[in-house]
Amino acid sequence: MKKGDKYLCEAGCNEKKAKPDIKRIGRQWKCCKCLRKQRKEKRDYILHNVAGVRRRTEILEEVRIRKEERERIREEKRNFTPIVPGSIQEKRKDKASIRQGRLGSWYIFGYLTKTEKEFLYKKYTTRKENPLQPEQAWAKIKKDVAHLSEHVKKLRQKNIDEEKIGNKFKEEFAKMLEGDK
Ligand SMILES: [Zn+2]
Repeated sequence: MKKGDKYLCEAGCNEKKAKPDIKRIGRQWKCCKCLRKQRKEKRDYILHNVAGVRRRTEILEEVRIRKEERERIREEKRNFTPIVPGSIQEKRKDKASIRQGRLGSWYIFGYLTKTEKEFLYKKYTTRKENPLQPEQAWAKIKKDVAHLSEHVKKLRQKNIDEEKIGNKFKEEFAKMLEGDK
């Protein structure tokens, strides 16, 4: 091994180089350029797979998919015509003005919006007493929605004014948000 001797890089580039541009690491000759590349790949791998940091392109791809999904749902809602008994449909036309804001045309079915579900979720998972695990919380929210639907159904059977049903729905939801159960 003389000074100036050249060695073949075994780390990928297959170039012959002399020290100090090439090193004996493990049982291989590796040139500095290839070493740098390997270190960078390792760093990227750790960032990507271990630390959970995702590559920008992946994130952008996810954003694109989510956007498409939102547009698809919006399109579906646009084409959705609720099937409701004639009398209610007539009332709904009369009460077009109250079908604004928070509940839109959905409230008459006793549904909760995504934001409202998220309010409940936060409440159930962060409360001091008996906080729920995510799965338990979603199961509870499912029950809450069923309860609200049932509530609205009962009110409608009593032939109560749609606007009042809307208000009672909101009251019932507020109880859920404030209650300890
Ligand atoms: Zn090399």
